[in-house]
This record gives sequence, structure tokens and C-alpha cells, in this order.
Amino acid sequence: MEMKYIQTTCPYCGTGCSFNLVVLDGKVSGVAPYQRSPVNEGKLCPKGTYAHEFVNSPERLTKPLIKKDGAFVEVSWDEALKVVAEKFKSYKPDECACLASARTSNEDNYAMMKFARGVLKTKHIDHCARLCHASTVAGLANIFGSGAMTNSIGDIADAKCVFIIGSNTFENHPLIGRRVMEAKANGAKIIYVDPRLTPTGKQADLYLQFYSGTDVCLLNGMMQLIIKNGWENKEFIQNRCNGYDDLKKEVMKDDYSLENVSIITGVPAEKIKTAAEWFAKSGATAILYSMGITQHTTGVDNVKSCGNIQMLTGNLGRPGTGVNALRGQNNVQGACDMGALPVVYTGYQKVIDETARKKFEDAWKFPDGIAKGENGYEVTTLMNVLSDKPGEIKCLYIMGENPMISDPDLNHVAHSMKNLDFLVVQDIFLNETAKLANVVLPAACYAEKNGTQTSTERRVQMWRKAQNPPGEAKGDWEIIASIAKAMGYGNQFAWSNSEDVFNEIASLTPSYAGMTYQRLAKPEALHWPCPSKDHPGTPILHGEKFGMPDGKGLMTGIPFKYQAERPDKDYPFLLTTGRSLWQWHTGTMTRRSKSLEREEPTGWIEINTEDAKNLDIKNGELVKAVSRRGEIKITARVTDNIKKGVMFIPFHYAECAANMLTINALDPIAKIPESKACAVKVEKIAEV
Ligand code: SF4
Repeated sequence: MEMKYIQTTCPYCGTGCSFNLVVLDGKVSGVAPYQRSPVNEGKLCPKGTYAHEFVNSPERLTKPLIKKDGAFVEVSWDEALKVVAEKFKSYKPDECACLASARTSNEDNYAMMKFARGVLKTKHIDHCARLCHASTVAGLANIFGSGAMTNSIGDIADAKCVFIIGSNTFENHPLIGRRVMEAKANGAKIIYVDPRLTPTGKQADLYLQFYSGTDVCLLNGMMQLIIKNGWENKEFIQNRCNGYDDLKKEVMKDDYSLENVSIITGVPAEKIKTAAEWFAKSGATAILYSMGITQHTTGVDNVKSCGNIQMLTGNLGRPGTGVNALRGQNNVQGACDMGALPVVYTGYQKVIDETARKKFEDAWKFPDGIAKGENGYEVTTLMNVLSDKPGEIKCLYIMGENPMISDPDLNHVAHSMKNLDFLVVQDIFLNETAKLANVVLPAACYAEKNGTQTSTERRVQMWRKAQNPPGEAKGDWEIIASIAKAMGYGNQFAWSNSEDVFNEIASLTPSYAGMTYQRLAKPEALHWPCPSKDHPGTPILHGEKFGMPDGKGLMTGIPFKYQAERPDKDYPFLLTTGRSLWQWHTGTMTRRSKSLEREEPTGWIEINTEDAKNLDIKNGELVKAVSRRGEIKITARVTDNIKKGVMFIPFHYAECAANMLTINALDPIAKIPESKACAVKVEKIAEV
């Protein structure tokens, strides 16, 4: 028996832990620690520990499938490529749209972006960052000039105060939670703000149990207290920021008096005062946030408010500080960096900038040019267009995404997908979306290919091939290149390996320009921006100046607005959604991992003990949860850990999908849906 260890990067959350895949006789069979990674130092959470289990699942797709008379039939690659190429060629450019993937590599996403803009010549390309951190990209870019986590994971341990808002860090980014505990062990105060007392909250020194969606109100109230008490960092504001007067004018309004803020957020006034004081006076406060901040119709406002309070207190550009957006998926940062967005090419070079458009057109050398320099549809807008303007978009090519579970208001999504003329899904499993496809293309998973992914801290790390893909499955960029070749664009996709793709990315992307596979192979890899071959990378952004034209951060007064749908007499509870330690996103991979699935094999709805008593609902009882958009049957978990009036459902489970209930209300700038707040009612299921 031959055994080897192949070091790679975890395919689950955005932390970017490394481990060794244990390969026995050519088959991945286990995970073993890799001690040299500075991110996780050999430690793993349960998802990383069992990241081998889905790889050789008997449910992996092994052959291309074409739907004939309503049923999938296995076909050869030649037949599948011929059908896909002919159909793709039959549409006008903007009748096509592409969804790239936060789960696949940078090389795969770059290939999809080049395919969309160069082969299909469509402006419509997006991916699921739209659903999780689009507000981070838009919000932070607007105020700091860079839409990414400002600091690195390791320096969270240097914080003197950690303010966690809208992030269940210990369950969803456990190896970042470890750094929070290191900070606590070093004497830092931990403040936790969330409607649920999660395992993260249980480690906090101060817990603010607020109503979902009142983030701006709370942060404005804290800023009013900071200014009233003279705790703001006057030197930082003076030297490093613009817009202080605008910010001050808003936050000093009576609307944000301690009394008003306490009423609106549901947090006792004393706790808000203590939070403001600890935050401002610590000397180094780090904000950690995740989708509790971003998934709102005020997502961009929420993100900018986090930036406001950090600029007000001078907590940027140093270890232990920063606005730390914790990205949920392994490569959501990278997919954005690769331009799998409707407004930018790689490295956030704008498609509406003719110089940038020309640069890509010249480099790619498509004989018939590339897509026009116009912004395309976001995935959420795309679903609305499919639903409301049938025939405008006819063809959709999806790589490694599952909108039939991940997107808001699933009845709406199903209606939209029915209006497609041609759907191609490229995936490792026949997920809920793939079942609707005309053609399904079998892809290799992370363990079966070389490539790179970019973690939440902008660290670009390697995937390394540990086994061959099952059956006839292939790497994503290779499939994309094969389709391009079948459509007559072989020269533009003539890469022989993933390193060729990466070198092309680096040649066109200033923030990746200094990166090579050789440099990334080191355990610490590199953080972008890394603009030249001798640049050491940039673990902490904004050290001396921000990425704005004048180098200054932009403070802005942000008025508080309620969520799109508030509880009322018909739907009296506020529903919020989230994730579990044991499952990941739409469950495509974790639900095929027996060790993870065993722990939490189905979904649940958390109901406050008093609310449950009033509804006559008992713990473990099957109940009906209903919103204006749909209903599900789901098991009740009665607990004191959730705020009265608020309910919670994890969104991983198809059989009781939280997104049957959520609302398709969008942030006006980022077009992110308000998955964190809608109105529901819960009913007992009558016994028969
Ligand atoms: Fe993987 Fe995230 Fe767990 Fe690390 S913390 S092992 S990256 S799921």
C-alpha cells in the first residue's frame, strides 16, 4: 500500500486553514494536520477534520448528462460539448448570463470571467458573493478604497477589545474564534452583539442582545456617546479622514440618544454605555463581522457604520484593530478578485473604464472583441429579470452554485429558472439546481486539482491535486476551455496547466502582480496587494494611508432605517437565518460527509421560551413556519438563547429551507438580499 500526504487548503469557510490530505493507493482517505500554516498551526474545526469524506462519495457526478424527454441520460464529452457550444452560439450576447463560484479556484473563476466576457460577450456575470458580502465590497471600497478585510487573522490576538457583531465566529469561522480566545487570554474584552446567544456570545464579557436589523442605530448611538465623552481619536480624524462633520451631524441627533437607541435595539442602556467605553478606550479594538451585518437592505450602510466607528476611534492600520469582514466561503474573496462580478474585471478594474476594457481586450486577443464596457446584472437582479421579463435572458451557465437553496424566496427563484430556455450546470454533485438543468457537466473537486484560493484575510494559498477526479469529471477551467475551443476560441484558452492560468491573472491584476506559484508554495503564502516580485505582501491594509485618491478615509453620516419587512399582527415574529458548526452553505458537500451529517442531520427553528409557551409549542415538536412567500415544516428548538420576538433557522437544509421564507428585498447599492430579517408566523401542526 502506498501512502502520501498532500498539503492543501480547506474547501469550506473563508479562514483558509491548511491540512494534509492522506492519500492511500491514489485515493484520498483522510485528513492529517499540517503544522506549518500560520493560519491554523495544525488545528482544524470539524469541517476541516472531515473534509475528505465527501470526495469519494458514490453520488459524485462522473459523466456529462443531457436531459432527454425529461430524464438525464449519460453522454460522451464530445456530445455534451457539441450541444452546449451550439446552443451558446445561438444566443445574442446579453441573452446569456454566467454564475461563477466562491467554492472553486481563482483559476476557475478567472476562466469563467474570460469566457463570459470574451466568448459569450455578455456583461452578465456574477456569483454568490452577491448573497453574502456584496455590501462589504461596495461599502469598504467606498470609504477606504479597498473592499476587503483590513487586517489579518493572526493579529486579532493582539486586540485589546474585540467587538463581534453579526458573526457567530466560533461556529462559522472556528479557527478565527481561536484568535479571539487568544486575545481574551491576553486580557482583551470581548463584546458580542447578536439576537442569539451563540457559543461565541457565551465567551463574551459583554453581550448585547439586539433586534436583527438595528445595527446602524446601535453604532450611531455608541458614536454619540464616544463624541459626548471626548473619547474620539482627534488626531486620527484630523490627519487620516474626511467627512467628520457629516458623521457628527447625523450621530448627534436626538434619534440616537441612549434612551431611543435602547428602545429601538432592545439593549439595556447601561450595556450600550459600557460597550461604547470599552470600544473607544481599549487602545486597539478589532471589529469582526459577517452576514449579520451584510445581509440587509441596509447592508452597505451597516458596513460603512463599522468603518465610521473605527475611523472615529482610530482603530485602523495597526495590529489588533480594523474592520474585519469574515467571508463565509473558501474563495469568495478570490472570486471577487477574479472579476466574477458584473461591474469589474480582475483586481476591481471597472468594466465601464474604457482603459481597463481595452487592456483586457488587447491582452485576450479575441478576434471579434469582448463584451461592451457596461455593467451587467447582479444574480439577484437576474432572478427578477427572469421572472418579470421572460425572454430577456434565455441562457444561464452555472459553475458550482446552488441558487435553488442559497437564494432568497425560493418560490420566486423556481419561477425564474423555469423561464430559462437553456441551463448548463457544472458541479461535483447533482444538486437542487443541477436537477433543473438541460446539461450537467461533471467537475473535479478541490482535492483533484491544482490551483489557488484567496482567504478572507486576502491570503492567496494553494490547492494541490491529491487524486484523479472520478470517472470522466474534469477541472472547471479545463471544462470552460473545452467549451471555448468547441466554439472556435481555442487560442484564447490554450493553457496547459493551472499555473499558466495564474500567470495570466498576475499579468493583468496589479494586486496579484508579484505572485507566482513558487512564492505561494511557502506555508505563509502571500497577502494581496503584492504588486511586484520582491514585494512581501500586505497583511494589514491602510497603515499610513487609505486607498482613496487623497489617501484619506471617508466618514459619512448614516441615517438608521428599518428592514424592508417588519413584524406585524399577521406575521408577528422576526426571522433571522444563519449557519451551523456542522454544515456548510447549501449542504452539497457537508451533507455527504457522514461524520458531519450525523451531528445535525436536519434543520430547526429556534424559538424563545416565552414565545413558545404563548404559542403552546414544545421543544422538539414539528411546527409550521410561514411567511408571505412560503411555508415549511420544521422542528422547534425552544431556548432562552434567542431574543423574545425573534426566530432563527439555519439555511443549509433543502427539506426545511429557510429561503422558502426569506424576502427578496435588496440593498439598493449592493443588491444583496435581506436574508437576516423578515416577518414570519409559526403555527402548531394540528394532530390528525
Ligand atoms: Fe476549514 Fe474554516 Fe474549519 Fe478552518 S475554520 S478548518 S477553513 S472550515
